[in-house]
Amino acid sequence: MSIKPLVAGNWKMNGLTSAKAEFEAMQSQYDGGLQGVVDLMICPPATLLGSLASTSGAVAVGAQDCHANESGAHTGDLSPEILVDSGASAIIVGHSERRADHGETSELVRSKAQAANRAGATAIICVGETKDEREAGKAEEVVIGQLSASVPDSANAQNAIIAYEPVWAIGTGLTPTADDVRQIHAAIRNALTERFGNGGAEFKILYGGSVKPANASELMGVENVNGALVGGASLKADDFLGIAKSYLG
Ligand code: PEP
Repeated sequence: MSIKPLVAGNWKMNGLTSAKAEFEAMQSQYDGGLQGVVDLMICPPATLLGSLASTSGAVAVGAQDCHANESGAHTGDLSPEILVDSGASAIIVGHSERRADHGETSELVRSKAQAANRAGATAIICVGETKDEREAGKAEEVVIGQLSASVPDSANAQNAIIAYEPVWAIGTGLTPTADDVRQIHAAIRNALTERFGNGGAEFKILYGGSVKPANASELMGVENVNGALVGGASLKADDFLGIAKSYLG
């Protein structure tokens, strides 16, 4: 079966109101030909969600994190229901920066993924090993451990997307070899089919970590890579669209 790829941009803690112009440029350059071969999404800071979502065009808008509860006394947090109400159709959960900076465990990530689904959003569930773990030969074990604990039993290809992001490749300009990416994505695919049967073959598995227009064709061409989660190169329309255009061949 063929899986339509997704290139999702994670703007992290970048983006003032003036960044709307960059998003509008993405919308206008995302023409019919490109729309036919790849889905696009930008996950801006939550403050820009409503504004970007009100822009006309086919680039979807997502959020970067959520609280697991629907509402209540959680100062500064945002529930998936609030994010969906602001225009998010997907929510990134378990990004390594949240796991590292906020001590998020895979169990918490799983409850956030379930919460995103409860609100009607797709959960983009991130997993990935650190440099030390890779050097110790534990990359696959760590990734599959995170995957099994972070993905809810109710997950399916419509409500969940997996993003493999080696921590040491994020924002560093370093990338794994195509063979290393192939190995981890194959292990993720196997784990998903073991757990979810035939449905496991339909999940999108994104690669993330220093994806740029110059390396996108090679990385996106690897078996079981169904798109990219992009940080730095998603901030500029030309770079982001350059990555998407790798799907035009
Ligand atoms: C990310 O943070 O999800 C990411 C992949 O960042 P970058 O593309 O900048 O490495």
